[in-house]
Amino acid sequence: MPKNLKVYKFGGASVKDAESIRNVGNILQKEKGNPLVIIVSAMGKNTNALEGVLKEHFNQTGKANEVLEKIKQFHYQICNELFGEKHPVYHDLNDTFVEIEWILEDEPEAYDYMYDQIVSVGELLSSKILTAYLNSQDLPTQWLDARGIIRTDELYRDAWVQWEETEANAKKQVAPIVESGKFVLTQGFIGSTADNNTTTLGREGSDYTAAIFSFCLNAESMSIWKDVEGVMTADPRLFDQVTKIDKLSYREAIEMTYYGAKVIHPKTIKPIQNKNIPLYVKSYENPSAEGTMITSDVNSSYPPMIAVEKNQVMLNISTKDFSFVAEHHIKNIFEEIAEKRLQVNMMQNTAISFDICVNDIDDRVENFVEAMKEDFEVTIEKGLELITIRHFQKPLVESLKHGKIVMMEHRIRETVQLVMKEVPMMVRK
Ligand code: ADP
Ligand code: ASP
Ligand code: MG
Repeated sequence: MPKNLKVYKFGGASVKDAESIRNVGNILQKEKGNPLVIIVSAMGKNTNALEGVLKEHFNQTGKANEVLEKIKQFHYQICNELFGEKHPVYHDLNDTFVEIEWILEDEPEAYDYMYDQIVSVGELLSSKILTAYLNSQDLPTQWLDARGIIRTDELYRDAWVQWEETEANAKKQVAPIVESGKFVLTQGFIGSTADNNTTTLGREGSDYTAAIFSFCLNAESMSIWKDVEGVMTADPRLFDQVTKIDKLSYREAIEMTYYGAKVIHPKTIKPIQNKNIPLYVKSYENPSAEGTMITSDVNSSYPPMIAVEKNQVMLNISTKDFSFVAEHHIKNIFEEIAEKRLQVNMMQNTAISFDICVNDIDDRVENFVEAMKEDFEVTIEKGLELITIRHFQKPLVESLKHGKIVMMEHRIRETVQLVMKEVPMMVRK
């Protein structure tokens, strides 16, 4: 594999319409002839739209084809703007849509399995369109099916990568293409099982795909192209006066993303840290700007940084017989947490009770409570927000609490975490 191989990942926002695709083409002109693997997400919000198709099909409402039709028109419209009315890419897209139509003709199967078969199509479509566009712009590009490379287990919707096989596949398939001077273009988010069933790696998983390829191919660097200048001190959609962080350590990045800094998928950091590959977060709107560089460099003076994770649930688990929440209870609780795949973001205990704050995903919390209720009293509070502040300053923490009820608060070294809820509004009669 060439030593100077780079991996670029373009997210949904960077390919949301024809103009955006032209912009990606311009960014890539600067890399012409260089060894480059490109990972692309579904265009715009098409993953959500495909989830809509699945829901209609699963509930047998008879509307699945109608929702699918809108997705088709979206993609055909973009192709029309890029290629006009005639181009081989239309056939390719048609074949992909026919595969969903076949699924829709049958009775629904297991939800998670079907999710991956239907929702994965967003990335297949975007990668086909982008490959066709780059080739039309004198940027020779070879489309690769990520499902022939990323081997996973059968945990549909949240599949785990089988690294050895994936690494061997990636090396074998990517090397001859980059050596021939072409770009490699493939899909984020998707993989497949040993039986060739399509799997997905979890929502927003395309950053992770780029990290998998970077790891397997020993990339020189990885860049993710976003609608922001780089990693900012907080989400610019939620906070004013945020500033860009020029350099960040892997450790800092993994802590922030785990607790909700959605600019990078949290699973992205480990593979690139393990091989010490620098990660650049760059703006596709301003590609020559520096962005953020994430490496092992330790910078001891960071500004305060805020991550917000919504959809939190607080569970209070207490023993029914007033026995202490000691080792054996804690062991049982954690076994059930692992079994139901809850992500615990905060915890604390008293003599006879244990509080945890977890992400509210599907019906995992309900399943957990059901399993616990024989031995424990469990109360649930939903609709909470977890705010993590690293390198905190006291006035900032106080201002974040303003107008909220603090349910849990933690301070560890430079980090403060708050689980909060809105103060209920009292309306004057
Ligand atoms: P992609 O197009 O690759 O899917 P995302 O939408 O997942 O990109 O990530 C970019 C978004 O992340 C930004 O639009 C921003 O609202 C959000 N975000 C959250 N936290 C931060 C942060 N600390 N810095 C920059 N962006 C952030
Ligand atoms: N398209 C997928 C999603 O929206 C993966 C990604 O964009 O990272 O979740
Ligand atoms: Mg995304």
